[in-house]
Amino acid sequence: MEFEAVIGLEIHAELLTASKIFCGCATTFGAPPNTQVCEVCLGMPGSLPVLNKKALEFALKMALATDCRVNPESVFARKNYFYPDLPKGYQISQYELPLAEHGHLDIKVNGAARRIGITRIHMEEDAGKLIHSESRPVSFVDFNRTGVPLIEIVSEPEMRTPEEAVEYFKGLRNILLYLEICDGNMEEGSVRCDANISLRPVGQTEFGTKAELKNMNSFRFVKAALEYEIKRQRALLAAGREIVQETRLWDTAANQTVSMRGKEEAHDYRYFPDPDLVPIRIDPEWLETLRKNLPKLPEAVRISFHTDYGLPEYDAEVLSSNKTLAHHFLGTATKFPNIHPKQLSNWIMDDPISISTITPEISGNLLTLVEKGTISRNQAKEVLKEVVATGKNPEVIIKAKGLAQISDTGALETAAQEIIQAHPKEAADFRAGKTKLMGFFVGQLMKQTKGQANPQLANEIFQRLLGQ
Ligand code: ADP
Ligand code: MG
Ligand code: ZN
Repeated sequence: MEFEAVIGLEIHAELLTASKIFCGCATTFGAPPNTQVCEVCLGMPGSLPVLNKKALEFALKMALATDCRVNPESVFARKNYFYPDLPKGYQISQYELPLAEHGHLDIKVNGAARRIGITRIHMEEDAGKLIHSESRPVSFVDFNRTGVPLIEIVSEPEMRTPEEAVEYFKGLRNILLYLEICDGNMEEGSVRCDANISLRPVGQTEFGTKAELKNMNSFRFVKAALEYEIKRQRALLAAGREIVQETRLWDTAANQTVSMRGKEEAHDYRYFPDPDLVPIRIDPEWLETLRKNLPKLPEAVRISFHTDYGLPEYDAEVLSSNKTLAHHFLGTATKFPNIHPKQLSNWIMDDPISISTITPEISGNLLTLVEKGTISRNQAKEVLKEVVATGKNPEVIIKAKGLAQISDTGALETAAQEIIQAHPKEAADFRAGKTKLMGFFVGQLMKQTKGQANPQLANEIFQRLLGQ
């Protein structure tokens, strides 16, 4: 029997606010444990939460960017459970009335376009972090992360392959970065994904029983875990066995998913509206202002790169899927209209890592020098590496390395004449029609000038001197 996978993702993103969602504590990552805490985020009796407006603004931006309908009124709810990283004994989240619903994200996999529905986006607070000692049988708890604002983006079960799930996840992260509301740092857990997956016989409309793969913080893990889970579930179903509804974890060392807890141990969260927080009512004018001021998003940028700058589809796709590179392209293209967009695109895609660390001015200046023939493209790349390594000014590097090409026609012509005199046989052959020898002559000149001759000029000079 042929099976089809059904996948839905729940993605958590930490919002880039300076302070936490319900108190004034800082959110900086990596501070010494328990230095960014107060009575509110530690859940001291009698303390009261107050919503951070910036967190709400950021969450609304994501809702607008994914075409969600923002609910005029939404409500915070308490999700009750016990765990040592949760000092209040409940997490403030949203349940029945989330911030926004019914959005979507368009993705492309192997050239085919797909629209993935977004069920809801809601706001909640992050929990603390447990640190298990490696030397002693003790665990520590760091509450710095407790109360950091999160949004949870829940998809419809509309993805059918691990590739689609990864594209969707990448697409959402990219939008978060374009909006500048999340740092996107997956290693630090700023973006994390729970993947729900079930199989069903091809042609069947009802969904099968799903497993939930918890807390993955890399695209590679999401893909590998989903691929493993498809194999695991298919083998069970093919053997006539049932899938148990459960939560599983991706074991990175063993390269497999392992059961964490079954349905029986699933929590009853006893959700109820948080009596300490008033419902959120969104001012329609404020929402409109946010909508109007949304930056250009990846999809619009991709289209503009293709239609306004004439970049091939592939270049437009690669550049727009990375905000830093996209901004580098736009910044350079705007300030240096002399540079051909495709040259600029090649330049960026050749060494995206170095490009991410320099300004559009540096790229623009280097490419202008290439265009003028002062340095070659390879020399520009060499200078780029040096700029990144030393932080020095490109002009200083070009001077110090003596990189500027010799574009002095007189000097090159004298050298070229000497070369022709020293190689009468090749010169005669060239004149007799063996034009392939041009490479030989230019090569000789390059050797003599230690690679500093302007190749185009060298070509022209030999053409003239050896011409009929
Ligand atoms: P739960 O109550 O177990 O958290 P939800 O209905 O809230 O389940 O859905 C959570 C996520 O699981 C959503 O992204 C949804 O699209 C996805 N999902 C729901 N049912 C299935 C299924 N049968 N197979 C795969 N994914 C599913
Ligand atoms: Mg869930
Ligand atoms: Zn606090």
